[in-house]
Amino acid sequence: MSERTEHAAERRADLLDAERMLRKGEQRLQGILEAAYEAFVALDAEGLILNWNAEAERAFGWSRAEAVGRPFADLVLPPAAHARYRREVERLRESAADRSVGRTTQLRMLHRDGNEFPADLRLALHSADDSHLIHVFVRDLSDREQAARDRRRAEEELAYQRLHDSLTGLPNRTLLLDRLGHALSLARRRGTALAVLCVDLDRFKLINESLGHAAGDEVLLEVVERVREVLRASDTMAHTSEDGLARLAGDEFVLICEEVGSERDAVGVGERIADALSAPIALGAQKIFVSTSVGIALAEPDATPESLLRDAGNARHRAKERGRARFELFDPALHARVADRLGQETALRQALERGELCAHYQPIVSVRDGEWVGAEALVRWNHPDRGLLLPADFLPLAEETGLIVPLGRWVMEQACAQAALWQSGVCRTRPYRVSVNLSGHQLLHDDVKAMTIEAMESSELDPSRLAVEVSETVLLDDANGAASTLADLRATGVRVFLDDFGTGYSSLSYLHRLPLDVVKLDRAFVSGLDEQGAKQQIVGAVVQMARALRMTVIAEGVETARQLDRLRELGCHLVQGYHLARPMPADEMTARLDPAGADGAAPSRRPLTQSGDGPAGPTRR
Ligand code: C2E
Ligand code: MG
Ligand code: MG
Repeated sequence: MSERTEHAAERRADLLDAERMLRKGEQRLQGILEAAYEAFVALDAEGLILNWNAEAERAFGWSRAEAVGRPFADLVLPPAAHARYRREVERLRESAADRSVGRTTQLRMLHRDGNEFPADLRLALHSADDSHLIHVFVRDLSDREQAARDRRRAEEELAYQRLHDSLTGLPNRTLLLDRLGHALSLARRRGTALAVLCVDLDRFKLINESLGHAAGDEVLLEVVERVREVLRASDTMAHTSEDGLARLAGDEFVLICEEVGSERDAVGVGERIADALSAPIALGAQKIFVSTSVGIALAEPDATPESLLRDAGNARHRAKERGRARFELFDPALHARVADRLGQETALRQALERGELCAHYQPIVSVRDGEWVGAEALVRWNHPDRGLLLPADFLPLAEETGLIVPLGRWVMEQACAQAALWQSGVCRTRPYRVSVNLSGHQLLHDDVKAMTIEAMESSELDPSRLAVEVSETVLLDDANGAASTLADLRATGVRVFLDDFGTGYSSLSYLHRLPLDVVKLDRAFVSGLDEQGAKQQIVGAVVQMARALRMTVIAEGVETARQLDRLRELGCHLVQGYHLARPMPADEMTARLDPAGADGAAPSRRPLTQSGDGPAGPTRR
């Protein structure tokens, strides 16, 4: 073979190889185009479709066979987009020198089903032979737009949640502080006054705990609706709006009042809210009464959002303390009181730990023969600086702080241990019952039954030697299930006394429904017995009624012989009061219970007929 022919053959083989490779390349290219996530369309110089990949089929709804040969613009662009598209193509041709760059533009495109969608179009010129082809890559943006919308919505939702209470949709503390900040600076600029009201539902916790959280939520929603109605009514004296209302926590709401003329205006708004909330709330068949405590703080020149909120909260706290359902205005002296309270709380906590508490006992006396048949345990605090403190000085604080629970347990243990000593000692031969006061808070927050049984067991006290005293209001307010707790306790043999009868609802008719052994007639009734009159009849009726229900009546607070005589006439069997004996330390009671006491007589049996003597017993408490 000549060199020449050899060369020609090589050349042909090369060409064949190149062609094969080219075809392979084309196939590979088409393969790539088919697998692409983007729609790809190739157009000839006239704008007719030459190539159309699978993604284009999906994006526009036309098959490759249907699309090829048709004008691109007519097929996939809505009329409104035609002019833009043509301009883009012209610019692309003008910049043909720089053809690799292409042009990107966003257009609305048309699906076969008539729906338009946003798309990113990338146009590129491609030279083939002597004409220019146009390659179009199309990215459907509707998903991305949707995703962006979703993200925006999620972000908005999150921001909302961060600043609002999920139940009521009201602003939370964070947003409130922000709004309060704005309101304060506006008030300063305009020279107007600003007040903050802190509204708290009394006894809401009780509703929640007894009726369940769903019921509690319903009550809260109704409360918010009523407050909104008040705010919508344009006749409030101060400028209030729903935007100024927020929920701080649980049952605590805050309202910003702008442009108040005086404290009186702010109080007026509070009154309207309290009025609106005083009507019962229907919960299914039940009617719930909520009452409110309102604290009000007016912005001082140096007020900050935080200080205003704190002051209104403190005033609200004081409103609650002074008897619920009332208003209280913040005054700076409150700061001192709050600090003082904190100190007292710590001191009371330490009193428990350091053994500064003690129990005194006041005899319960039989009217017939003057015999001491039992005693009521009454807690005292031997304060290192202030001397012996009475329950009124520290029990309210104990209740509020929850310290009443350990305190109450301590009294129960102490009383059981003491009663057990009397049971096995001076009162071996006669029943001598010790009664222990239980507060409503204890019944709500402590397992009173288990606590009592534990105390009796560890001191080996017979249950028949123990009684618990519960005040009337606790039992009537029976949302907390106190009655059933007491019934359980009573089943173990412990007696249940109704304390302070007559201070609450004073209705005799419900007595038979309660698990009771004894009704203790409040001092308020007994003190009225010195004169003839209505009190006399009431006491007589209570004694009769109790008899009919097989309950015993103990008259409390008997201070004079005259009262005692009347009680005897009215058929009351047991009495308690300074006239008979004051509360005393356990040792003293032991000594006086002992028949072989100092003077040899039985000091616990003093004749009760004589009148006019002062307080009995050597100790005053
Ligand atoms: P209470 O259960 O009604 O106790 C009777 C209160 O009347 C006692 O006051 C007693 O000292 C006082 N008293 C007794 N006789 C007379 C009298 O002739 N005239 C007058 N003016 N008062 C008399 P105290 O010890 O100050 O207790 C007050 C209240 O504190 C008690 O009322 C009781 O509700 C509560 N309390 C006392 N100790 C405890 C306790 O350990 N736990 C609980 N939860 N509450 C207690
Ligand atoms: Mg009592
Ligand atoms: Mg009482």
